[in-house]
Formats: sequence, structure tokens, C-alpha cells
Amino acid sequence: MTAPAAAPAPSARRLRTRATLLAALGEHGTLSRAEISRLTGLSRSAVSSAVTDLLDEGLVSETTSPSPAAAGRGRRAAAVTLRRAHALVLAFDFGHTHVTAAVADTTGTLLGEATAHLDVDNHPREVLDAAENLARQALDAAGHRLDEITAIAAGIPGALDTRTNVVRAPSTLSQWIGMDPAAELGRLFDRPVTVGNDAEMGARGERAYGTGRTVNDLVYVKASTGIGAGLLLDGRIYRGASGISGEIGHIQLPDTGTWCRCGNRGCLESVASIVEVRRRLVHVLAPGARPGETVDLPPLDRLAEIPAAARVIGEAGRTIGRVLADLVNCLNPAAIIIGGELGQAGAPLVHGIRESVDRYAQPAVAEAVDIRASRLGLRSELYGAIDAAIATATATTR
Ligand SMILES: [Zn+2]
Repeated sequence: MTAPAAAPAPSARRLRTRATLLAALGEHGTLSRAEISRLTGLSRSAVSSAVTDLLDEGLVSETTSPSPAAAGRGRRAAAVTLRRAHALVLAFDFGHTHVTAAVADTTGTLLGEATAHLDVDNHPREVLDAAENLARQALDAAGHRLDEITAIAAGIPGALDTRTNVVRAPSTLSQWIGMDPAAELGRLFDRPVTVGNDAEMGARGERAYGTGRTVNDLVYVKASTGIGAGLLLDGRIYRGASGISGEIGHIQLPDTGTWCRCGNRGCLESVASIVEVRRRLVHVLAPGARPGETVDLPPLDRLAEIPAAARVIGEAGRTIGRVLADLVNCLNPAAIIIGGELGQAGAPLVHGIRESVDRYAQPAVAEAVDIRASRLGLRSELYGAIDAAIATATATTR
């Protein structure tokens, strides 16, 4: 097991800068140092030191020919070019009902991907076998072999104790409690595997590839079957003493008596999970449906157009926002990015959250936080796992 928490802080920061820079070069090909700084939000000195490292390692070349962007203005800027994607990584996103495997290079370019929909909670052994098959499918799609993979990382929707590496309660993966997913995956692939909580991976994904690229203090909320937060504070993932930070789904709301799977009543998750929201949507969109009847609902991103549905989503947003307001008071983040299935609902959800944050957080912190839906859709966690694997790969190949 390569425990994410084991990396010393300065090294983690250096790897983050590196991954950000490699991702920018992967996307744009050739850039001047000034352009890298502008695109990534990294300081000129951080870019300069990272470019020097990458030049030393032969991963980039630098010429004095004008970069494409500088050419039109007649300036001759030194242009940094990514020489090649020097390593391949394998990443997994384990959800409540799906597993996705992806092969990417160290620029973050996704080369192959495979997904299976299955009952992740109840069948850990079958899910791990499926992960192996999905990895092979993703590798086939990418035209590569497992022995070419430098590093592997996975996000799981469970509370992962960084002291013991085992899944702890409460977890949406009740049958995984007590398991060590990193050890299981490590055995499967015969090499160390980095495993992190899915919301933590979501925060990483948003920071590296999403709308949080230039943000050093962000809260990523995965609002799905469970509701969890990934915290990126001062540019670094914050896991807490035992790795279980961000369990906002079990923060109690006033005046709510609904039982939660954790044994308490009134937890955020018990009233605003995607399961509860879907139940209420069925009630307003298909009032004649019998209890337990399967009802096809419109996609969540289309519900803004249906007033009754938008009200249900808005109410869920205000409920989640009530808890996030306290988090905003406590942490003063620059951004809250909403992902997970419920995040797909977009504007009505974000407006509901905004309303509660403005109502309950102090004005000075409320006005400092930008609240947005993830633009990576349901892939923040997968991209976070890619980012985690790249961090390991680039450390390994140094
Ligand atoms: Zn609870």
C-alpha cells in the first residue's frame, strides 16, 4: 500500500505543481513559462523551478522559438514543449453501483476506459474481479499492456482509515467494512495501489482538471447515495487524524427526525441523498405511482425546466447549503464544487445551496466563496484517481 497520507507535505506540493504543469502542457502542447503561469495560476518562480526539474529529467524541451501564442505579438518567448508522455497510469473509480477503470498518460490524457454497472456494496469479491477485467478492457482500448503501467490509484465511496487502511463505518459500502482495498487491489495487480476516499479524489480531480484549477482552498461535495466532502486546504488535501474528514452527510440538521443508516436521526444524508431526492421527484412527477414502483424520471440536468421538480431540487440544495454554511464559517473556502449524481441537477441545486450559505454563513466568508456544479460531470473522482496515480508515477520515475 502506498498510503496517500505518507507523502511529506513539501513533496506533495512539488508533485502537485508538477502534475499541474504536465497537465497544462499535455493540453496545449507548447507554452511559454508566462503562459504556463497564467493558465495554471502557479507563480512564475514555481513554474520556473518545476520546468527546471522537468528539463533535468528530459521530460520537456525548451527552445527560443516563438510559442504559438507569442508569435502573433512578435515576441520571442522561450517555449516549453512536452517531449512525450513518459509513463502510463491506471485509475479506478468505485461508486455505489459502478466501477470505471481508465488508462491515462502522465499528462492526464485519457487513453482508454471501461465501466461496469454492478452492486458494489454487496459483492466486494466480484467487484474486485470486475476491476481486473475492466483494467484489461481499458488497457486493450488504449493499446497497452499491464506491465507498461507505472502506478495505480483508486477512489472508493467509503470512510478509509489512514492508520490501518481499512474501510470504516459509516460507509455506503457496508459489506466492505473491515476490508483493506489497497491490499486487495495490490494483490490483484501485484504492485502497490494508492486508495483514497471518493470525495477526496473528487477534490483532487477538480483541482487538477476541473473548475478548481487555480483554487487552493476548495470543498468538493460528492452528493450521491451518500454525501461526503473532499477538503483541499492551502493547496493540500486535508484528511484529518485518521483519514475520515469531510463526513458531512452525518452532520445533524435541526428539526429533522429521519433515521440515518449510521444509527442517528436527522443526518443530512438521510434527507438530501440522491435516493431521497428521487423519492420526492417521483412523488411530484408521477403522483399515481405505487410505493416501490419503478418510475423513469427525466435526466437530472433537465429538471430545471419543470417547476415542481426544480422546487424539489432547490429544497435539497437549501438543505445541503445549511450544512455547507457551517463549513464555510469554519474553513472560509474560495470554492465549493458540487459533484456526484445530484450535482448533475445544476442551477436549481446550486441556487438552493447559495441561498442557505448567504443566509447562515457570515457575510465576509459567504461573499468569498464561489459555488458551482462540477463541469467534469460524474468523472471528478476518476480524474482524481488519475491525478493520484500520476503523482506516484512521477515520483517513481524521478
Ligand atoms: Zn448519519
